[in-house]
Amino acid sequence: MIEKNLIEVQKKIMESGLLRDSKEITLIAVSKTQSIERIEKAYKLGIRDFGENRVQELLQKIEKLPKDIRWHMIGHLQTNKVRQIIGKVDLIHSIDSLHLADAIETEGKKKGIYIKGLLEFNIAKEESKYGFQIEEMEKVLEHMTHFQYLSIEGLMTVAPFVKDAEENRKVFKKLHQLSVDIKSKNVDNISMRYLSMGMTGDYEVAIQEGATHIRVGTGIFGAR
Ligand SMILES: *Cc1c(COP(=O)(O)O)cnc(C)c1O
Repeated sequence: MIEKNLIEVQKKIMESGLLRDSKEITLIAVSKTQSIERIEKAYKLGIRDFGENRVQELLQKIEKLPKDIRWHMIGHLQTNKVRQIIGKVDLIHSIDSLHLADAIETEGKKKGIYIKGLLEFNIAKEESKYGFQIEEMEKVLEHMTHFQYLSIEGLMTVAPFVKDAEENRKVFKKLHQLSVDIKSKNVDNISMRYLSMGMTGDYEVAIQEGATHIRVGTGIFGAR
């Protein structure tokens, strides 16, 4: 099942990214709640990027799975848990507060480890979702430009749950535009090379709108 699903997802990535180099699109298999065995299956099929949203679960899986996996932290991260994941994850997608960014910078400094992160924006202004508001952008950039250990590599959003993926096109367009606006400011320590957007229901639209990282769970592993 996982194999069939993966072939399907990879085909769709190729088709939606026709005007782009598909090597620049990273498929992150979202493995939250999935067993080690199922993750190993995806690994054997060539997947090396996995996404998790809970620190405890992430740490247990890192222990048991091959060392060449790139782990992506994609869920809300409490500042008191930062310490546990620094140096173990490749990219933190969910930097959603200045407080959290400070905690990552401080921990990086303490351990002498450089960390890559994305700023999460709540583009659709959903009450239930984490993330900065677009209006806060200037303040956020100003705050992070002097960091030495945490470098901001791009933006991330979790789009609303919708029936028709087309409804989220405007959300993806807005995140993309925001990254263009930020890039044009040429802020130290902040590059906009990554755009993490699109999940099982809408990754094709996200790719069309410029996603570099898509986060697909159900579409690979089946319903959770
Ligand atoms: C669970 C999750 C996903 C994957 O969702 P699917 O709909 O199963 O593809 C993507 N991003 C985040 C932040 C998630 O928590």
